[in-house]
Amino acid sequence: LLEIRGLRKAYGDKVVLSGIDLDVAQHDVVCLIGSSGSGKSTLLRCLNLLEQIQDGTIVLDGTEISDPLVDVRAVRRRIGMVFQAYNLFPHLSVLQNCSLAPVKVSGISKAEAAELARTLLARFGLGDKENAYPDQLSGGQQQRVALVRALCTQPDVLLLDEITAALDPELVGEVLDIVRSEAEAGMTMLLATHEMGFAREVATKVCFLDQGRILEQGPPEQVLVDPTQERTREFLRRVL
Ligand code: ATP
Ligand code: MG
Repeated sequence: LLEIRGLRKAYGDKVVLSGIDLDVAQHDVVCLIGSSGSGKSTLLRCLNLLEQIQDGTIVLDGTEISDPLVDVRAVRRRIGMVFQAYNLFPHLSVLQNCSLAPVKVSGISKAEAAELARTLLARFGLGDKENAYPDQLSGGQQQRVALVRALCTQPDVLLLDEITAALDPELVGEVLDIVRSEAEAGMTMLLATHEMGFAREVATKVCFLDQGRILEQGPPEQVLVDPTQERTREFLRRVL
């Protein structure tokens, strides 16, 4: 579904990603792990065309989305993204937050968008919150709404950047439950995470990033349990 080849990204003369090659198949759940500053967020941002890349190609379902002439809005409709700090619109209700993009971007009717949003909110235990405003919700609830909002555009791929990192520990589970259930439903996902147990459980592939390169990738049983690279082992010793 996604083919990344030779992706290079630098800020000025500081190289942040140097030659990333990665394939994401449909229904894959790819977990990006690695130290702070290794380039996980930057990689996800490049895939969602939030960053200009210096070299390489990103192909989504046969379309080269790294082409400068690509329709960025069309790409973002197909690639949803959720960030660490829930970026809900504070002046819009939960239902409005979730139905805004589908109406604007996918051109479906307001009624259709609201119906889809209500279905997803109910599925994820937020059925009674549709009229609430973000500041009336807990962090975990806000992050669940952010996930529902991303799902409402019915993306082909979902990018999740440490979406539980800002949450109190007791709220992490309710957010990961949604990710797990989407993974089981076959949603293709690429996620940066520090939750190694979760990665072990849901990932189809784990990629260890080190200084802007994928040093090692493979099934979670391999990369997280029996890595081939000393740096991966060192990282796991520190985080586990
Ligand atoms: P973390 O685990 O802390 O989230 P990360 O793996 O997501 O780390 P990135 O945020 O991708 O790391 O950052 C990779 C490198 O790029 C870091 O050295 C960072 O300082 C640098 N960087 C990120 N954004 C910018 C920017 N806008 N301008 C300059 N340098 C940046
Ligand atoms: Mg990051």
